[in-house]
Amino acid sequence: MCPSYQATREEAYSTRGRSNLLRRALTEPDPVAALSASELQDALDHCLSCKACKTECPASVDMSRLKAEVMYQTQPRKWISWLLRRQQGLLQWTIRHPKWSNWLQRRRLIKRMMGVDVRRSLPKAGTFSLQDWWNSLSAEQLDPFAEGDVRQKVWILCDLYSQYQEPEVGQAALNCLLKLGFDVKPIFMHASPRALISQGLLPEASEELARLVGMLGQIQLDDYIVGIEPSEVLTWRDEAKDLLPKTAYAFDYAQVRLYEELLVDLHAQNRLPVMHKQSRKLWLHVHCHHKALAKPEQVYEALAQIPGLVIETIQSGCCGMAGDFGYRHYDLSVKIAEQALLPALNQVQQQDWVVATGTSCRSQVQDLTQIKAMHVAQVFDQVLPERS
Ligand code: SF4
Repeated sequence: MCPSYQATREEAYSTRGRSNLLRRALTEPDPVAALSASELQDALDHCLSCKACKTECPASVDMSRLKAEVMYQTQPRKWISWLLRRQQGLLQWTIRHPKWSNWLQRRRLIKRMMGVDVRRSLPKAGTFSLQDWWNSLSAEQLDPFAEGDVRQKVWILCDLYSQYQEPEVGQAALNCLLKLGFDVKPIFMHASPRALISQGLLPEASEELARLVGMLGQIQLDDYIVGIEPSEVLTWRDEAKDLLPKTAYAFDYAQVRLYEELLVDLHAQNRLPVMHKQSRKLWLHVHCHHKALAKPEQVYEALAQIPGLVIETIQSGCCGMAGDFGYRHYDLSVKIAEQALLPALNQVQQQDWVVATGTSCRSQVQDLTQIKAMHVAQVFDQVLPERS
């Protein structure tokens, strides 16, 4: 069910309510002006772009996509657009000046200027950049096998969050692939197509997608292409085909896989080594786009290959954070998390692991429970044996 409706029970905050307002606006004599009407803008502003309606509603309404189109036409939040256009530069600055950045991010005035609720913590600057760490690895660390061995390539899309805000996630993702014997080819993204789409910055999103397609043009048929952040990966299977021009180079967007899908594939091919046994419980929350657009049970399947791990899948919908939504709508965001996620996390014991597959989900968990949730790659980095 639509999480904003589930938490508020207000018709305007349901998929049907938003669809009706949108339909009404489009029948006005000046539809573009009608799209800026405050009632419609408010209804769309309270949509989390979780994509649950795309699969759960009988009419398969993709409100997330409709919202992005309306925002493209009306551009209601200019300051977020300004920030997103400069996101990589700003994140690089936070890495270089962590003290300043963390100090500024705690200021109430800065939060108010950004439209962020003062009860929210903004993500702290990472302690290193993923690309710097990768460039510091020796040839032996990158290729521990005998010279001349031909290893299968994995092209890995490193999103901005895994590069700058949670570089330890990107590090674990790359490290696991090295441990698994791949020839790892990271592609460091310059922008976040998902974030750009969610703010209606459609030309900017297509520009970054086109840049990435240009780089992926080098892939061979048996190469893998994976991503770390589910919402970025699933953009390829969802919006990318409509945002990119039909070029001569026919890139198959479905080739871009979720990290967990690669692990399940390797298990099916018997290519996962024996992993360190665990005697603990793992609580699993899967990102809403993964639930709506892919097979969330594959995350369980990947983790279930770790001997001894007891996995409890939390029956949650969207975590309530959803990009910048939780920063601006604190009370509603918490109310959504209270539906299923927080009651489950209240039962977590000290030795348990918590996995939340999306970066927004992990910041929601951290902010509301102080639990440091992990990406699946961080779990595998701990249980995979070192290369011999
Ligand atoms: S995208 Fe999510 S929040 Fe928005 S209308 Fe659909 S189900 Fe509701």
